[in-house]
Amino acid sequence: MPKIIEYESIVGPNTIEELHLLAGKLQGKVIQNINSTAVGGGVAEILNRMVPLLQELGVDARWDFIKGGESFFNATKKFHNALHGKPEEITPQMFDVFMETSQRNIDEVKLHGDVMLIHDPQPIALIKKKESMPNSKWIWRCHIDVSTPNKQVWDFLTPFIHQYDSAVFSAPGFSRPLPIRQFLISPSIDPLSDKNKDLPQEMIDAVLEKYHIPNDKPIISQISRFDYLKDPVGVIEAYRLVKKRNNCQLIIAGGTATDDPESAKVYAETKEAAGNDIDIHILPIPSGSDLEINALQRASTVIVQKSLREGFGLTVTEALWKAKPIVASSTGGIPLQVKHKYSGLLCHSISGAAFAIKQLLNSPEYAKKLGENGREHVRQNFLLTRHLKDYLLLFLCMYHPEDIIYL
Ligand code: UDP
Repeated sequence: MPKIIEYESIVGPNTIEELHLLAGKLQGKVIQNINSTAVGGGVAEILNRMVPLLQELGVDARWDFIKGGESFFNATKKFHNALHGKPEEITPQMFDVFMETSQRNIDEVKLHGDVMLIHDPQPIALIKKKESMPNSKWIWRCHIDVSTPNKQVWDFLTPFIHQYDSAVFSAPGFSRPLPIRQFLISPSIDPLSDKNKDLPQEMIDAVLEKYHIPNDKPIISQISRFDYLKDPVGVIEAYRLVKKRNNCQLIIAGGTATDDPESAKVYAETKEAAGNDIDIHILPIPSGSDLEINALQRASTVIVQKSLREGFGLTVTEALWKAKPIVASSTGGIPLQVKHKYSGLLCHSISGAAFAIKQLLNSPEYAKKLGENGREHVRQNFLLTRHLKDYLLLFLCMYHPEDIIYL
């Protein structure tokens, strides 16, 4: 795992120095993260990187989990979907199971943080312990877009949320009015991970060869889970409009997650839409193929993310970090990343996507400039080091409720 100093060549010495300065102000404070799983999902992914780096900076950061059985996690999965606005049948039994398991965790999990950072709804009820820890500061870190939640679930959660000192959301549009202090902390990518680190050209060529993709014409790609909301069939339709004038090929690559019953269907429909066009490559990618995803993104001439709905859209961050010109839908966190005509092109329809792709294929200098701006935008805003700094500032803010923190 890379050390903090290895990020200096990417973000400069000042950023690293700031991290040390801020971390120094947290001496003696224990920061305890609590979530529900050590592996799988974005939260665990980020904590796996964040906690060791905080520790290296001298912050006493810890990470513990709540425990729960199948019925608890079935209920919280339904809550998760319902909070995202997906129709779900929520039963009173689910709330009962949630409270029973929460009470067991309240009794059993050892809480010792000066700052308690509680991730997502699963461990939210631990806030009941706040009274018995009078000097502790409690933060609810919500990674979900709760802007249009199922009312039943939201009403159940709000009495807990209101007891926290602060809440943190990933994008301004993801939050709700709350009577507690709110912070915005965007997600980030790790520039030194296998998914994002620089790759030698031979490795990129080898991955293209493995998937029988010739390198003789421009490559348009979308790399995302096979999910209706990522609209892979819409990408194919856009490609067909482009193909009338520009000789090019299309890669649609992604996982067919075993925990997503719809993905196999979406994959099949995407294959069908591709028909027998030999310039369309539909690639099922097994999980853990970070180096391959990195290589496919780097091999692309234009990267597309034509989502109908999106969370933050980390695939966009990854593409921009590779200085790729991107065409992406104006949804979720994407407009925070793609500033139209500056760090990529935003689109609102299939024909709009096709128009933008053609523009980038026909103006390589313009495309290059957008890609360069995109990389710089990510360097400034969406790398792990910025994320670390935001967390350090957040913890310090708990001790300075009204102040601005000076370095
Ligand atoms: N990803 C992956 N394998 C795939 C498809 C996507 O590892 O088959 C990665 C992708 O590189 C990104 C993340 O999963 O890091 C997807 O995050 P994003 O926010 O774009 O969308 P989500 O899948 O969470 O809706």
